Amino acid sequence: MHDSIFNLICNIVRTGFIKWHRIQLFIDVLHMKAYLFDVDGVLTDPKEKRVTKPEFFDQIIAILQRGEPVGLNTGRSIAWLVERFITPLIQNIEDKSLLQHFIAVGEKGGTWIIFDKEGNIHHEKMEELAISQDVIKEAKVLVERKYNDSMFFDLTKETMLSIEMHDGFELDMFHQRQKMLVEDLKQLLTKYKLQNIYHIDPTTIATDVESPNVGKALGADRFLKFLQEMKLEPQEFETFGDSKSDFGMSDELYRKGKQVRMIYVGDRSKFGESAREYPIDYVGEFSKGTLEYLEAHA
Ligand SMILES: [Mg+2]
Repeated sequence: MHDSIFNLICNIVRTGFIKWHRIQLFIDVLHMKAYLFDVDGVLTDPKEKRVTKPEFFDQIIAILQRGEPVGLNTGRSIAWLVERFITPLIQNIEDKSLLQHFIAVGEKGGTWIIFDKEGNIHHEKMEELAISQDVIKEAKVLVERKYNDSMFFDLTKETMLSIEMHDGFELDMFHQRQKMLVEDLKQLLTKYKLQNIYHIDPTTIATDVESPNVGKALGADRFLKFLQEMKLEPQEFETFGDSKSDFGMSDELYRKGKQVRMIYVGDRSKFGESAREYPIDYVGEFSKGTLEYLEAHA
């Protein structure tokens, strides 16, 4: 801290006008950090697809108790997030008003939930992204009739369409089946003249049909809007991801002039080091790596 500011603070404390703990609170607010997490593989175990370490909830709660904001930024649906992360988080929080500084963004920025002072959930979405019901119905029938062996239609999505691999199915086999599915989905979109409106994204364990505008950057923008609405102005942002696409959130924050540090917990051998203008910490892999980082920097 600048010497003259420090001297000024010392003088104010000496007069007895303000107590030290008040000054500490003031300094904490000045150094507010915001945390933005991808979920799969970062907070949840990549194989079990759920939080296997309850210590995660303690860490998130500790951040909220410091008055710092926390965001989740994932392609998962709100229903999935509520079941696997939000419900256990709420159960572990005594003071529900802490949740005011928490936002969970789902469907790559298309849906989100926030909390009021009493801890009530408010569920919102970008209606304009929603895919037509005719396409959804037809895709659902297609998956049930032709791809039931390897995948299922995710009924919980609100603004996008996701077809996910059955748990435990063989990955290579899934990717073969996925190639066929992508062709069928292209035909379906063409039938409704939507082939240039929606985009098909085949990922490791799922195939998504979505607006080309959704993604980790849209999720990061939603986080920024939330901070603005809450009148929070963090000086630093820490983003946590395990895939290449997660850099999208850090890039977006950087583009918006924010001070950002990316904590990468994914498999580094997949694409080596990434050249960025902001700092990147390569730490231990997956949820274990995230927890170790949070515990070390608490
Ligand atoms: Mg992930």
